[in-house]
Amino acid sequence: MSKQGNIGVTSENIFPIIKKFLYSDHEIFLREIVSNAVDATQKLKTLASVGEFKGELGEQVIHITLDEKAGTIVVSDNGLGMTAEEIDKYINQIAFSGAEEFVEKYKNDSASIIGHFGLGFYSTFMVSKKVEIVTRSYKEGAVPMRWSCEGNPEYKLEETTRNHIGTDIILHIDDENKDFLDKDKISGLLKKYCRFLPVPIVFGKRQEWKNGKYVDTDEDNIVNETKPAWTRKPAELTDEDYKKFYRDLYPMSEEPLFWIHLNVDYPFNLTGILYFPRVKNNLELNRNKIQLYSNQVFVTDSVEGIVPEFLTLLHGVLDSPDIPLNVSRSYLQSDQNVKKISGHITKKVADRLEDIFKNDRPQFEEKWDSLKLFIQYGMLSDEKFYDRAAKFALLKDIDGTNFTFEEYKKLIKDSQTDKDNQLIYIYSSSTEDQYSYIQNAKDKGYSVLLMDGQLDVHVIGHLEQKFENTRFVRVDSDTIDNIIRKGDNGKVDLSEEQRTALQGIFKSQMPKLEKMEFNVAFEALGENTNPVLLTQSEYMRRMREMSAMQPGMSFYGEMPDSFNVTLNINHPLVKKVLADEEAACAEHLSPVLADIKGWEARQSDLYDKQDKKKSEDVADAEKEDLENTNKKLEELRNQRDQILSDFASNNKLVHELIDLALLSNGLLKGEALSRFIKRSIQMIG
Ligand code: ADP
Ligand code: MG
Repeated sequence: MSKQGNIGVTSENIFPIIKKFLYSDHEIFLREIVSNAVDATQKLKTLASVGEFKGELGEQVIHITLDEKAGTIVVSDNGLGMTAEEIDKYINQIAFSGAEEFVEKYKNDSASIIGHFGLGFYSTFMVSKKVEIVTRSYKEGAVPMRWSCEGNPEYKLEETTRNHIGTDIILHIDDENKDFLDKDKISGLLKKYCRFLPVPIVFGKRQEWKNGKYVDTDEDNIVNETKPAWTRKPAELTDEDYKKFYRDLYPMSEEPLFWIHLNVDYPFNLTGILYFPRVKNNLELNRNKIQLYSNQVFVTDSVEGIVPEFLTLLHGVLDSPDIPLNVSRSYLQSDQNVKKISGHITKKVADRLEDIFKNDRPQFEEKWDSLKLFIQYGMLSDEKFYDRAAKFALLKDIDGTNFTFEEYKKLIKDSQTDKDNQLIYIYSSSTEDQYSYIQNAKDKGYSVLLMDGQLDVHVIGHLEQKFENTRFVRVDSDTIDNIIRKGDNGKVDLSEEQRTALQGIFKSQMPKLEKMEFNVAFEALGENTNPVLLTQSEYMRRMREMSAMQPGMSFYGEMPDSFNVTLNINHPLVKKVLADEEAACAEHLSPVLADIKGWEARQSDLYDKQDKKKSEDVADAEKEDLENTNKKLEELRNQRDQILSDFASNNKLVHELIDLALLSNGLLKGEALSRFIKRSIQMIG
């Protein structure tokens, strides 16, 4: 029998589509052809096992042969083959409706076109000027057939000779795609797409190193592993097997923390092994390490939309024939099966973590640093996962002790509840930089958490919403008595003049730095607390931190960093500064202060008078009077500040106190630091 004809119904459209639009993923032709060969092989096996095929199965191997000279790639299988009718049905009659509309819609999405039309076989025309099929069906009396087509709607079907059951697909590679006629290229593609196919695939001969070069041996070079770990039963596998599989997948990675072997067959089909990698930092670098397979055929390693975002930090393999693989991403994301699968994976991951936490808490704690980023990311992005993880997520204090949320709350409930019934979680982002503040908190018997992770800023905000009546406050954001207010603080017993003096003294001597502002405040903190403390408001700091991470909040990033300089008026050294100032400045300052008082009284009189009138009714003389008064006051105040600043600039104690406070915050550097050291040595001597 010999036949000539046209392919399909609207087949004029197929070849332009293939040539024009499917250019992006040319290489997948190999995956399509080899997986067809695998299907054919497995079908024959099934037929043999149910007794429909009674002949010799023979060696079930797929051969891939590259002939650079002839310009061909041949994929041969010993599978079930095709009869002439089957070629007609499966190859010639391509289900094809509404082609033009579809092409319009998906012209940039080659994968979906291939999948939608079952164009697997036709993808060969992306790289071939001519494709031949030589096949012999397992069916008794079937005549071997040769089909050929040159990339146009005409095909040829004729009888041929072939001894074995099975199929050869012969690709005559076209001129633009000659780079596929390269052994290394094909090896690479086989490794990518066919590495775990269930039927042995032979590509050339195994090579060995002999007399200074590689030479072929007699042995076939099998490129794939037919029974990869995820397809085996967990009971058959040792820890070493799992680790070895991980090394095979990611030769450069450190050993994984642990893994989950997924094995679901209802309500969908899903197998796979997910590994928890060792990660300390950087969410981006570790993405896209999950490989997605469909019946052991590699499909993709970008799994967004298929697994929840935070799970893309895991490594490993997922295999499901139920995930519609050849469709577009947006379709995937709305697919019900995909949603179920992703929910299921989340649950399994939470189960596994909870399991380890419950049964082996020491191991869990030991691995927490590596797990933390992943678990926190999950808690921030997935409500359901948060609810599960709230039982095993840990908070670590600065001494390295771990607590669950529940445990920690119990620990601090009595001591760290403030007068307004808020529970205060104190945290540090650096035990080095915030050492003295941590000491102050510890002296009070408070616990301090270490929150130095990449996501901790976000986690803090999230937990404040989840926990009731709770605030997180960084240990250096205020004096410890203000962080947890138990009652009213000690009374600040200073006269107006004394306040003005201290403010003038300290403000004038703080370093003048760009984008840095200092405000002087007073507290009565007792004799044992440091004389000068530098703190930064929790709110402002957090806003700045968030703005650094999120575009669109740059307003906060533009604001100056503002610090509070808190003077502890109970401290003898602060008292001494004040006493020294009074002794040194009183003579010059008293008359100025008296003048200021006088002029201030006059100013407020004038304001009072003018306030009662409409502005048109205020006489020019009156306006001038007020202007002059204001000017005079400004002069006097400048005079006052100058006297204080002159005093302060020559006062070693003031500088020493300021430098010590800066030093406690890690803000004393460079020249200022060396000046401090020199001065300190002088003062000791
Ligand atoms: P799909 O694999 O999705 O069915 P393809 O376009 O890849 O679509 O293949 C079309 C059909 O051609 C297959 O379903 C199968 O019936 C037949 N076929 C392709 N390759 C082979 C082969 N090597 N052996 C037997 N039949 C084959
Ligand atoms: Mg196919």
